[in-house]
Parts: sequence; structure tokens; C-alpha cells
Amino acid sequence: MSITEESVLLPKFRKMTTHRTFTMIKPDAVENGHIGGILEKITSAGFTIVAMKYTQLSKRDAQAFYAIHKERPFFDELVDFMTRGPIVSAILEKENAVEDFRALIGATNPEDAAEGTIRKLYATDIAENAVHGSDSDENAAIEGAFHFSGREIY
Ligand code: GDP
Repeated sequence: MSITEESVLLPKFRKMTTHRTFTMIKPDAVENGHIGGILEKITSAGFTIVAMKYTQLSKRDAQAFYAIHKERPFFDELVDFMTRGPIVSAILEKENAVEDFRALIGATNPEDAAEGTIRKLYATDIAENAVHGSDSDENAAIEGAFHFSGREIY
């Protein structure tokens, strides 16, 4: 197989979409020193990390990533928050990854999140809620491809 087919045309993410999800440890959790605690929760729950980077979103990146929310009143606040410092982005693999990861992170608002969930443990409020988790297999594939090239996924 050529490099082109392996790395560009057939990124591994696309081959196993139903077993993968995409996450970000958001700027609040990075600032508050929770990267290690959150990664521990993720790996203890049986997720394998297949791609990971420490990076900072530009305004343009954040506006594109959250374009679905562009009509929401909190859009500018969300973009400002997500760009104010570094994040950790990652692709995670596990059976039933999308649904199981949403259960692990808990409700958007940490006040509503179940005990033991990542947002209950580490989020500040509905805006600064520590982690992102894809809400569908389709969005997991789109979001993973937004952050990682085929050759960064293992
Ligand atoms: P999620 O799928 O649980 O992350 O929730 P949503 O897709 O509804 O919202 C995306 C992100 O926007 C959330 O994770 C929050 O960071 C942010 N967000 C949601 N609701 C609010 C809000 O009322 N105010 C602000 N400032 N941010 C919000």
C-alpha cells in the first residue's frame, strides 16, 4: 500500500468510526491542573487513546468547531473560553465509545451531572465544563478529522 492510500485517503479513524469518539480537555481543566486526573478517569473506564495533542485553538478553529452553535446567545463566550489557553485533544477507542464517553463525562451542566462523572468532579459551571465529548459517531469522525491527520492516529 502506498503512503498516500494509508495516510491520506484512508485515515484509520474512518475505518472504525463506531468504536471511536473525540474529546478535548478544555482550558478551565488544563488551567486547574486536572489533565492527569481526567486522563486517569478515561483510561480506567476502558478507553484507549489512539491520538492525542496539547494545543491551543485559534478563534477561527473554535468558530469552525462549534459552528453548530453559532446562533446561540453564548457562542462568542464559548469561542473566547475555548481559545483562552491550551487544551488536550484526543481520539478514544472503546466499544460503544460515543455513548459510554458521554456517560463518563456527565451532563453539560455539572450541577446536573451524576456523582463520579468527569464534569461532576472537575467542571466549574455549564460554560466551563472541563471536557468535550462527541454526541454521535458522525460528529466523532468529523471532529477527530478536524484535529488530527491520518498519520497522527494510531
Ligand atoms: P455538550 O454536548 O454537553 O458539550 O453541550 P452543548 O453541545 O449543548 O454545548 C457545547 C458547549 O457550549 C458546552 O459544553 C459548554 O462549554 C458551552 N455551553 C453550553 N451551554 C452554555 C451556556 O448556557 N452558556 C455558556 N457560556 N456556554 C454554554
